Amino acid sequence: MITMKFGGTSVGDLQRLQDVASIVHNFLPQHPVVVASAMSGVTNLLLETAQHAVHRDAEIVKKNIETLKEKHLNVANTLLKDAARHRELINTQTALFDDLTNLYRGVSLLKELSARSLDAIASYGEILSCLQIAALLKDYDVPAEFIDARTFIRTDRHFGEAAVDFAVTNNNSRALLLPKVEQGIVPVITGFIASTDDCITTTLGRSGSDYTGSIIGAALDSEEIWIWTDVDGVMTADPRYVSGAKVLPEISYREAAEMSYFGAKVIHPKTMMPAIEKNIPIRIKNTFNPPHLGTLISKKSGNAGSVVKNITSIDYLSVISIEGNGMMGVPGISARIFSALARIGVNVMMISQASSEHNVCFVVPDKDCEKALSVLRSEFDIDLVRKLIDDITVQRHVSIVAVVGEGMKGTRGIAGKTFTAVADAGVNLVAIAQGSSELNISFVVDEADVKKTVQAIHDVFHLN
Ligand code: ASP
Ligand code: MG
Repeated sequence: MITMKFGGTSVGDLQRLQDVASIVHNFLPQHPVVVASAMSGVTNLLLETAQHAVHRDAEIVKKNIETLKEKHLNVANTLLKDAARHRELINTQTALFDDLTNLYRGVSLLKELSARSLDAIASYGEILSCLQIAALLKDYDVPAEFIDARTFIRTDRHFGEAAVDFAVTNNNSRALLLPKVEQGIVPVITGFIASTDDCITTTLGRSGSDYTGSIIGAALDSEEIWIWTDVDGVMTADPRYVSGAKVLPEISYREAAEMSYFGAKVIHPKTMMPAIEKNIPIRIKNTFNPPHLGTLISKKSGNAGSVVKNITSIDYLSVISIEGNGMMGVPGISARIFSALARIGVNVMMISQASSEHNVCFVVPDKDCEKALSVLRSEFDIDLVRKLIDDITVQRHVSIVAVVGEGMKGTRGIAGKTFTAVADAGVNLVAIAQGSSELNISFVVDEADVKKTVQAIHDVFHLN
């Protein structure tokens, strides 16, 4: 059995939906369990419309519901061949749009939009989408059955990003789904949505369908969990930056997590947790190229080639430095810096402090740079006046480049080779950090230098 998740773009238009149907049909011998997202753009539009509803922009609400309705009914009208099935889907979807219209009306009347209401509204995207996928699959002679995840995935009441009750959910999943799979049925399950024990709709957080895939794949002890996307797999580097970037056949869970922290579009670390606990491999596959094996993410790193697996970068960052003679040996400076930033919700992406303690520097998103500076200037105003801190400076438009690979742990010379390559490319290093996990080396360079930096490191480790 394989649990397969299809994301919003994979089910987002007529052509892609037909591709999905033939993929599921072709993989029938593998006993697929399908999890799918809303059609691309739908969740955003549902949530946006809720904002219009609360502001009583009745015209826009009406127009948006029409847009959504057309988008979905067009799928039924164009793709479904069986007349009875077509009628049934149209009726069900029309009734759902009536419900949705009422929900928006309620929001308008009350002028109140809670996280709980937003979850209820967002859930329509996955329900509409999975209903039509199930119907389409039947047209392709796949014995599909629509299943609403709210009937068996149980969460707490943390609306917007609810926490899953795994004990209940795992039992429910097995009890509900295994008999169906045994009968040859292909469940088509709504991603992203769930419910509380008193049947209130919740969601698992934006982009939560991957998570649903992993939860179900793990609960059912699937052989593998396949995440269908539109690339052949995880690559050694961003192909826009590096000529000769290639697909990695295998990476470890830890490498995948590390890569996604550093901006590679792999899979969200939280998403992998259920799969990791059951040691179930996750495979990234391409809907445009189904026979390609993709990238297998599992416990082992599959170190066939280089110990360095991949080079990623995050752009649009600033590096802020705080320096002063008064900082040496004074406990609590770092705590004050990072508490101040946490108070205003600024995410710190990398930290580096030399052991002289004379300077601490850290990287924040460029868009947060001004507010970070102002909160730090007020936090340290007295220290600045007393010259305990000389200055708080900033360098804008920088990027973090991260070199990731599990085999780097304990392998000597990786850092040397990396930084020699950077120097030979004529690139100036702004700051460096290596986590003690030794799974990655990350450093900051000017945004203008990213491309040649990534290419140089890719070349020096012969990743192509
Ligand atoms: N439809 C949801 C979202 O857009 C979940 C997903 O796409 O995974 O966030
Ligand atoms: Mg999505």
